[in-house]
Amino acid sequence: MKLLVTAGPTREPIDPVRYISNRSSGKMGFSIAAAAIEKGFEVCLISGPVNLSTPTGVERIDVETARQMYTAVEREISGCEAAVFCAAVSDYRVREVAEEKIKKSEDSLQLDLEKTEDILGSCRSRFGFKGILIGFAAETENLRENAQGKLEKKGCDFLIANDVSRSDIGFDSDQNEVIIFSEKEPPRALPIQDKVAIGRAIIELIEVAINS
Ligand code: C5P
Repeated sequence: MKLLVTAGPTREPIDPVRYISNRSSGKMGFSIAAAAIEKGFEVCLISGPVNLSTPTGVERIDVETARQMYTAVEREISGCEAAVFCAAVSDYRVREVAEEKIKKSEDSLQLDLEKTEDILGSCRSRFGFKGILIGFAAETENLRENAQGKLEKKGCDFLIANDVSRSDIGFDSDQNEVIIFSEKEPPRALPIQDKVAIGRAIIELIEVAINS
């Protein structure tokens, strides 16, 4: 059984020394990868820039940009039975990256941004993925409505939602408190716990779904 996991932030360059990114640490995705190894899965972990060591036994592919993550997922997903999209992919990138460092000569500066590829949203429609598909939703408002909407729009079997406006959980924290939205069952809230324990719960979800 092979699992694909995306983790961490992406980095979208502005010029040779600057980029757009976000506060994702990669801890949630790396915990899921480690939990999958414990249960005997093969794991392909596609990660943005993070400061974490690779769990033993995991095949790790490092990427920087959303486009590179898209290409890596497109290449790797066909060999997998399940995929968990934990990465906080940048929604926008700079349309034209400056070749030289931008000088601070003007009082203000406008960046022209374009949307990045929706990697999770491409799995069913473009990559033809038929396995168990799990997305994450980091929300600061209307958590339930947004999560339910993403579950359907992106063709997921499960959508794991967390409230990133809280500082005790979510981004860069060791703990998380999530609600699991499912295509088939009512939403289920898990108590606040270590990301390692949440990783194990997500692997259990996959095992049950694969065996049912
Ligand atoms: O950013 P958004 O809330 O739409 O993210 C929901 C899910 O989609 C997450 O699982 C995230 O990893 C994934 N995603 C993606 N590619 C993007 C944006 C989000 O795979 N460009």
